[in-house]
Amino acid sequence: MIGLDKIREAAEEISDMVHRTPVLTSSMLNAQTGNEVFLKGEHLQKTGSFKIRGASNKILKVVRGGVRHVVAASSGNHGQAVAYIAGKSGVQATIVVPEDASPVKISAIEAYGGRVVRYGLTSAERIPEAIRIAEETGGLFVPPYDDPDIIAGQGTAGMEIVSQIPGCEAVFVPVGGGGLAAGIVCAIKQLNPEIIVIGVEPELADDTKQSLEAGIRVPIGPTRTIADGLRTSIPGELTFPILQQHLDQLITVSDEEIAEACRLLFQAAKQVVEPSGAVAVAGLLTGKSGITGKKTVAVLSGGNVSAQGFSEILNA
Ligand SMILES: *Cc1c(COP(=O)(O)O)cnc(C)c1O
Repeated sequence: MIGLDKIREAAEEISDMVHRTPVLTSSMLNAQTGNEVFLKGEHLQKTGSFKIRGASNKILKVVRGGVRHVVAASSGNHGQAVAYIAGKSGVQATIVVPEDASPVKISAIEAYGGRVVRYGLTSAERIPEAIRIAEETGGLFVPPYDDPDIIAGQGTAGMEIVSQIPGCEAVFVPVGGGGLAAGIVCAIKQLNPEIIVIGVEPELADDTKQSLEAGIRVPIGPTRTIADGLRTSIPGELTFPILQQHLDQLITVSDEEIAEACRLLFQAAKQVVEPSGAVAVAGLLTGKSGITGKKTVAVLSGGNVSAQGFSEILNA
């Protein structure tokens, strides 16, 4: 468990850099799920996802300690968050992206002032290259989830949920590497252990489900789920034991269910949510958790999707 003191310190550390995101409601979602539903709007967070919470908690601290260069291996939301915070802190960011990364994502990183290095096609190639660049330049490699400061930063979203939604009884969270879910479950269980926390994973990237069943971290092969922020190949060394001990349930959803959740969030709640960001709602909609008649929260974890990508989902 990451202690509540660490999560409270993180909340203070990052308060000038991140939004306290709004909580949205939709009577159509209430009717469809038989719950009183609240959507925690991290798609409206700075840089378009919750990743800024962990990244800023880590980076603000090390910059005070003298670090002048941070390095990440991500073409997605973590890369954007690291580039943004580095820019705000006046230090350099190098983001290692796959050779086939989309121009939209590269320009987002560059717009925040990050330097982009294209390398390899898989994270297994990219991560060692990012670590090598960090070592060579005296910089710091910032991992996307498997780090106590990152987990504590993501946990600040859990603290906000408890204070913004008094009497909340169940929380649905997406699970990729597990940083967001681990942070949220740590915050929530220490504030109110009666709140049920449910992790949701794509069927096509069910490394955490397989690992929970096996009792040890199990790697999976490359995956193409539309939830591109959740394509991790193995749960984190730090995040997995936290999820194993404290998550109440883990359920999986199909890519079709994820796309349907994106469409419903657009039509019913008027929100643009990327596939990874809609996975928690997809989990709630399947009814697999058995949660009913409860004050229920689903985390909308991100909204970074291109116009073309979003229209393909809407028109599918
Ligand atoms: C990174 C990400 C996730 C998954 O977070 P983990 O900490 O890796 O489990 C979920 N949704 C979005 C939008 C993300 O960018």
